[in-house]
Amino acid sequence: ESDPASAPRIDGRRTGVRGHGRPCTPRRRDPIALDPRRSTVLTAASGQRARLADRTTQLNGSVIDSSTSLLASQRHDIVRFAMGAPNAELIPEADFARLFQAPAAGRFDYGATEGEPELLAQLAAYLERHGEHADPDRLLITTGGMQGLDIAFKLVVDPGDLVVVESPTYTNGIGTALSYQARVLEAPIDADGLVVEALPELVARTGQVPKAIYTIPNFQNPSGTTLSEARRRRLLELADEWNAVIIDDDPYGALRFDGEHVPGFAELRPDDARIIRVRTFSKVLAPGLRIGWMQLAPELRRLAINAKQAMDTCTSVPMQHVVADYLAEGDLDAHVERLRRVYRERKEALVRAVRELLGDRVTTTDPQDGFFLWLTLLGEDAVIDTEELFPTALRHGVAFIPGPAFSNSGAFRDALRVSFATSTPERIVEGVRRLRTALDEQRAR
Ligand code: PMP
Repeated sequence: ESDPASAPRIDGRRTGVRGHGRPCTPRRRDPIALDPRRSTVLTAASGQRARLADRTTQLNGSVIDSSTSLLASQRHDIVRFAMGAPNAELIPEADFARLFQAPAAGRFDYGATEGEPELLAQLAAYLERHGEHADPDRLLITTGGMQGLDIAFKLVVDPGDLVVVESPTYTNGIGTALSYQARVLEAPIDADGLVVEALPELVARTGQVPKAIYTIPNFQNPSGTTLSEARRRRLLELADEWNAVIIDDDPYGALRFDGEHVPGFAELRPDDARIIRVRTFSKVLAPGLRIGWMQLAPELRRLAINAKQAMDTCTSVPMQHVVADYLAEGDLDAHVERLRRVYRERKEALVRAVRELLGDRVTTTDPQDGFFLWLTLLGEDAVIDTEELFPTALRHGVAFIPGPAFSNSGAFRDALRVSFATSTPERIVEGVRRLRTALDEQRAR
């Protein structure tokens, strides 16, 4: 029923609405749609129609988030290589439960949009302890890292604006850029992260100057690569040249378990108004808390606060206090140390299992942090479409995220992301064994 000819063209591709719920079907001869190229009409099950924003054609939904609900309904013994999240045993649940019981007076009212003063103070102290200068005028508490990304793109992107992203990159990062109708330029990465040297030519070919560069410089999701210092410096120069904002998405930076710290953009250029850094407690504490923060120039922060006011007024006040109290008790450093040990062990187990059990059937990354390995199928397996492999793998009791989820261009059909965060080393070995069985079955088709 959809009419692809009338779907808006963005970045050379015709797009239809995918994702959750019923499809929105733009129709050429629809009496409600006055301008068929500019209107998107939702046809409900009842037959009723509603004209929606064109940007709904870009709300593709995230395979990763859909797999959270999908996996919830699956057999319990599934090896969960899909999600980038710590599991319950690595979350200080007992501490949180105790802190929830703390005197609650005044914690259930609306809070300041920029964040609870107690959390801002604890956060600033935490960052200072780790050698980062943290001016409270540059901090803004957000509802998870995702809201930080949403605000960042909202401040920077008008429809049709060019945004440079790494390819592959975090599904919801592209999703957010597209929700503001960005034109996304997917730039290649190698072992040192985004190939910054290639950008001038790639950008020149678009005929546009980028408004933003969206990068995950530390332990990139999904590839696990880290952007080298030289490339960070070069990217800052390009941002100068283009007056482009660098949206620095850094959920994993605090968890480095191997190798040397690479200075962040804000360390290389303190007070640069073009750097918006988006961070979160989701990976070091718990994703369900939905507590993150932004670090940005005071002038931008004022706009970000205005944007957040029109989104959710403030981040959950009780949750902010749980995190503030947890930080005040001083347990975070010890907790992060433990996570580093556990994740190093799990990463090593996964790399070893992949090398031993999948040998020359895949190439794998070997990251120094983050939660993920990026596997690329080789040889006879290279023709397998990892989206088709997914249901087979699920039947064999292992879940991963197929490569195409990390791009808007349909690339990476021969790749998959596997997370080592959620499973013990024993389960990791079992998961890789199941993946091999699934590959064998898929290859025989
Ligand atoms: N950016 C990246 C690269 C991520 O991997 C994630 C979480 N998967 C986020 C942002 C979002 O973090 P949060 O869960 O705090 O919204």
